Amino acid sequence: MEIKKLIGAWSVILLLTACKQGQLPFLVQSYPHEDYGNQLKKQGLEETSLGRQWLQRAEWALQNPVSIDIPFSLNGVFYTDDIEAGAWRFSLKQGSALRIHANWKSPDSSRLFMDVFFFEDGKWEHVGAAEKGTCHLDFECTEDGEYLLRLQPELLGAGQYSLTLERTPTYSAFPVQGKDSRAIWSVFGDDRDGGKRRHEGIDIFAERGTPVVAPVSGVVSSIRNGGLGGKSVWMRDHTRGHSLYFAHLDSQAVNSGKSVKTGDTLGFVGNTGNARNTKPHLHFGIYVRFQGAIDPYPFVDNQLREAPVINGFPTERYQVVNGAKANFRQGPAMDFKVISSLDEGDLVWVKGQTNEWVQVETPDLRSGFIHSSLLTLPSPNVESGKERWAFWDPFVHPADSFQLREGRLAVLGSFKGYRWARDEEGHSFWISSN
Ligand SMILES: [Zn+2]
Repeated sequence: MEIKKLIGAWSVILLLTACKQGQLPFLVQSYPHEDYGNQLKKQGLEETSLGRQWLQRAEWALQNPVSIDIPFSLNGVFYTDDIEAGAWRFSLKQGSALRIHANWKSPDSSRLFMDVFFFEDGKWEHVGAAEKGTCHLDFECTEDGEYLLRLQPELLGAGQYSLTLERTPTYSAFPVQGKDSRAIWSVFGDDRDGGKRRHEGIDIFAERGTPVVAPVSGVVSSIRNGGLGGKSVWMRDHTRGHSLYFAHLDSQAVNSGKSVKTGDTLGFVGNTGNARNTKPHLHFGIYVRFQGAIDPYPFVDNQLREAPVINGFPTERYQVVNGAKANFRQGPAMDFKVISSLDEGDLVWVKGQTNEWVQVETPDLRSGFIHSSLLTLPSPNVESGKERWAFWDPFVHPADSFQLREGRLAVLGSFKGYRWARDEEGHSFWISSN
């Protein structure tokens, strides 16, 4: 197990940091999902169809995630007779703090496992999990990249969940008192000196004399005077080990070696150094060992949107496309890639909903979203059935067929040359369209 990509917040921080340094190996050596999977294997359930499906579905989910943007919320459902796992992928920048929460309501008190993965060397590496019995995870991302959240209930577990993923402020104080991230007018990477060098930080504009404060607790490592930065302060962030740089100060208010708490004044905004011809501002930089200057923006950004509240839960297990065409997309917005175009009457399994989009799985097991205006409940078409072949799952196991006797059938939807039908005893299966 690898956990170096995340810094867990609050109590978890100790566990992850300890593990990263290779100390206290008895902590966090396994996680609830893995423990549960091992229990299934120990009890011999791996040899049963159900146990095997549960383990396979956990792996399969990693290969078939939907894509989302943060913040995100979804109301979803897991059914007892459906061995299921959901997976959502998203990008995060180093320094972003994320809160994942699932409000899980299960009538049979089954557990829901929450795991986070990071994409590295062509595969998803497990990097974090909600503690046993909880569906909550706070973490800080220590590397830019693609992350994945997986939810899976225990075997035969069922319930409804309200899932939210939202960013939380990383630093508890903004470096310039009384200001917020809207006062950042020059970002990391901007050209400097006609493109000869890059801007290794961000500029936060404020009136001369505005207090510059410690965004985290730490120690002042040096006070400097002169050069590009003019009057500057360096401090060390105790939690992360980063060096923080505050430049162009009008004056400094601390001495080297002083311990500071979050919010303590380090100095005052000015325009010393090479800022003498611009308006007073704080140049703020973050330097990381073996990495150099990194973008401070995700650390100081405090203008974060909350995840929306979703109204209602899916009430039906499947719906059909109600227009001539429906774009089936990787994520819940128009700018996500179209996976395929579905036709009128095509049947999809409903997994969850946002306020405008329905998360679905197609019968050939692809996960994505369809705009809710393009789906409706099926209206059964009754026909007198002839003797013919029927299939449980023609898209995945086409050889798995059985002989159907004559009788009335209700046809509910179609997909890729097959129709989804139900007999008078309530059994559902696929029949070929011709
Ligand atoms: Zn600057």
